[in-house]
Amino acid sequence: METHTTTVNVLGYAAQSSKAPLAPYRFERRNPRPDDVVIEILFCGVCHSDLHQVRNDWGGATYPMVPGHEIIGRVASVGRDVTQFKRGDHVGVGCMVDSCQRCAACRQGLEQYCEEGFTPTYNGTDRHDHKPTFGGYSEKIVAREKFVLRIPARLDLKGAAPLLCAGITTWSPLRHWSAGKGTTVGVVGLGGLGHMALKLAGALGADVTLFTRSPRKERDALRLGANKVVISTDDAQMASAEGKYDLIIDTVPNVHDLNPYLPLLALDGTLVLVGFLGHLEPALDTVPLIMGRKSVAGSVIGGIAETQELLDFCGEHGITADVEVIEIQGINKAYERMLKSDVKYRFVIDTSSLKA
Ligand code: NAP
Ligand code: ZN
Repeated sequence: METHTTTVNVLGYAAQSSKAPLAPYRFERRNPRPDDVVIEILFCGVCHSDLHQVRNDWGGATYPMVPGHEIIGRVASVGRDVTQFKRGDHVGVGCMVDSCQRCAACRQGLEQYCEEGFTPTYNGTDRHDHKPTFGGYSEKIVAREKFVLRIPARLDLKGAAPLLCAGITTWSPLRHWSAGKGTTVGVVGLGGLGHMALKLAGALGADVTLFTRSPRKERDALRLGANKVVISTDDAQMASAEGKYDLIIDTVPNVHDLNPYLPLLALDGTLVLVGFLGHLEPALDTVPLIMGRKSVAGSVIGGIAETQELLDFCGEHGITADVEVIEIQGINKAYERMLKSDVKYRFVIDTSSLKA
């Protein structure tokens, strides 16, 4: 397959500042390199991180910003050194598009912990041409073969998009902390990440509990793979869960009190934060940690090999996200709904709407 010789001109949606709504934006993708895959984007999931980044909640935002890191597409062309993909293949791109490939973390397949920092799919800088990276709210992306994932044939494409971030972000801690038969897993927050955590922990055979502020989500949680639901604002229900959990995955996007969750951990249990980035308030009480050898940990997405492992697992088990498909023109409204936890359970953009 021949490499394109011209720069790829694409239409996307971008934010021009932290206060601006997303709007149409035309830009150029790089001239494909020998190890690049040019992907025509079909669907892109809407992650709460997109909202954090667009609004500069974490600092360091650069504009124009084209968000989107749950990308599913079809290969349009490949560079001459590409061996794993061919035109027409269904592929995915997640939160990373490159890393140093040399450090200890990269050598172990933990590109998400690259010592030089991985190259994010958007709001980053390409490590070769030093130009900004732009994400999946767009028609096409040019990505290094090593960071392109294969989508198993039987997976529904729109439902597979969220696996590239929400899926892998919950899969990685489930695997690292050995969730499975005979283990008890708690999931805090039923949104994009939370609903994938319920499905994946359930499929791994764990005994799964959802902790939620929202009683209206109880029925869905049981359908999605939870064996039990605890309303986190109900002290009696929380007290009845004490000492039971080997692993709790906390997906809450905002600062919140972790102290009520520490007593829920079993001996040697771990509370893994994947949602909130920043300083915790109020301070943690160390007593439940010390009196039970408990840990509080964090985790970011997952490596490329681990993401492929997840996709293959989902292919075997028929697991996809529960999605609400939207047209790109509805993205600003979708963000407002996401802020109100009003999504079941992931928005996914049908990028064919860019042509409308
Ligand atoms: P989401 O769909 O908006 O879901 C978040 C859920 O958290 C809500 O549905 C809600 O569930 C609960 N929640 C929201 N605000 C809360 C509050 N103030 N107190 C308690 N619970 C609250 O978001 P998401 O896409 O799953 O993302 C969750 C977080 O993970 C975001 O901060 C995102 O940036 C981060 N993230 C991290 C990684 C990583 O690699 N570590 C990767 C992707 C995303 P209930 O109604 O059930 O309580
Ligand atoms: Zn994400």
